[in-house]
This record gives sequence, structure tokens and C-alpha cells, in this order.
Amino acid sequence: DHIFQMQDLYFYYPDGTPALQGVSCNIARNKKIALLGANGAGKSTFLLHLIGILQPARGNIRFNGLPLQYDRDSLIRLRSKVGYVFQDPDSQLFSASVWQEVSFGPMNLGLPKQIVANRVADALQATGTFHLKDKPTHFLSFGQKKLISIADILAMQPEMIIFDEPTAFLDPRYTRRILDLLDNLNQQGISIIMATHDVDKAYQWADTVFVMKEGRLVKIGSPAEIFSDD
Ligand code: ADP
Ligand code: ADP
Repeated sequence: DHIFQMQDLYFYYPDGTPALQGVSCNIARNKKIALLGANGAGKSTFLLHLIGILQPARGNIRFNGLPLQYDRDSLIRLRSKVGYVFQDPDSQLFSASVWQEVSFGPMNLGLPKQIVANRVADALQATGTFHLKDKPTHFLSFGQKKLISIADILAMQPEMIIFDEPTAFLDPRYTRRILDLLDNLNQQGISIIMATHDVDKAYQWADTVFVMKEGRLVKIGSPAEIFSDD
């Protein structure tokens, strides 16, 4: 059972940089996947294709068996099911208060008020940030902002969450907290993929490792397989 199927993707930035060069893979549902690769390997470019922010120059992408479509309504639907947590929470948070911030997504789906309120409360509880609900977002610490940016996504009740370097710039305590949270979410049936260049983290946290190099997906396997043969 695959949540995404990607076939022979090529992507070039406007300046001509080839960032994906023939990427093919199936992403199995309900996994904890670490997307490993050096800076510039193409991890972010790959992940941005999953939510249709970038479109391949060639190749195709299926989500739950259907080809991705790039009209506004299709993208809104896709992004309610596949959440993207950016490395820098400041690029994601824009509402005045935490409660408003986390309500924004489900409200935009047109859900009834009470349902929105329940989702927001659940998302804040899941991330351990309920006590911050009335705080202005810009007064939060970096770690708190990170948790709120995850709550944002959880309130959409996604099938999959994509994380770009989720523990970058976090101290060991917050790092542990975020990785435990990702484990909990995965146990609740959410597929998780995280980009990282941290080999140790990939080894310890993931059940599946994808390795990218120079725009190509060069290996897929369990951590034991990936880290035994080189
Ligand atoms: P198998 O042949 O048993 O699927 P593999 O050697 O292909 O095992 O993969 C090893 C591990 O990586 C398994 O846990 C498998 O579920 C996982 N895995 C392999 N390919 C993918 C994929 N495309 N998406 C997610 N997980 C995968
Ligand atoms: P990673 O996430 O693994 O660090 P990226 O996907 O960000 O890699 O980058 C892949 C390649 O595309 C690199 O060569 C990078 O320099 C280039 N690249 C990334 N963003 C842009 C951009 N906006 N314009 C031009 N080149 C880019």
C-alpha cells in the first residue's frame, strides 16, 4: 500500500540547476522515513514535489493512486492530507495568537466552529502546548514555535506529514521531545518523512531510509541495510 508513487522525476530550477535527475520511488504508507543526503542533494526539492509546490519538468507523481493535479482546489485538498512542516517556523506561523494560528487551517476547510475548536484543542494537547493557546505567536521560543507549527498541521488531520530538518537549531531536550512526538503520530497511523543530513538520527529514529545524492535517489532500505554495506 503506497501513499505516493513517483516515476522518473526531473526538476530544474530557473537558473538551470538540475535538482532531480530521474527520481523513482514508492512511498509505503505508515512508515517513519528518513530522507538522508548532504546539503544540496535534492531533499527539499523532492519533498516540495509531494505537496505540489514544485512541479516536475518530466515524470509523474501519484497520491493515493491518483495523479497529482495542480489546480487550486486539488492543491488545497492535497495539502489538507499531506502537511509540510518547514525548517523555520517563522515562515509558517502568521496569526496573532496560538489559538488563531492553529484554527486557521481547519476553519478554511469550512468545518463547523465546534469541530474546529475540538481539533485545535486536540492538536495543542498532542504537542503539549495547550497552555500556550492565548499567547501571541511572536513571543514564543523557537522550540515552542516549532511545536505550534506541528500543531497547525495536526489540526488538519493529515495522512502524512513531511518535515524538513525538524530538529535543526533545537537543544537536545526539544530534539528528544519532537522525535518522541513524531513516533506518537506515526503510531496513530500518520506517515512521516523527514529530511535530515544527520546520519545518527536517521539510523536511530527511522524504520526506512531513503538516500539522495546529486539529485538522485541512490538507496532505499531499512537502517540496518543502508548502514551495513558501506
Ligand atoms: P521488503 O523487500 O521486505 O519490502 P526492503 O529491503 O525493500 O524490504 O525494505 C526494507 C525496509 O524498508 C522495510 O521495512 C520496508 O517496508 C521499507 N521500505 C522499502 N521500500 C520502501 C518504500 N518505497 N517506502 C517505504 N518503506 C519502504
Ligand atoms: P537539500 O534539501 O538536499 O539541501 P535542495 O533540494 O535544497 O537540497 O537543492 C538541490 C539543488 O538545487 C542544489 O544544487 C541547490 O543548490 C539547488 N537549489 C535549491 N534551491 C534553488 C533555487 N531556488 N534556485 C536555484 N538552485 C536551487
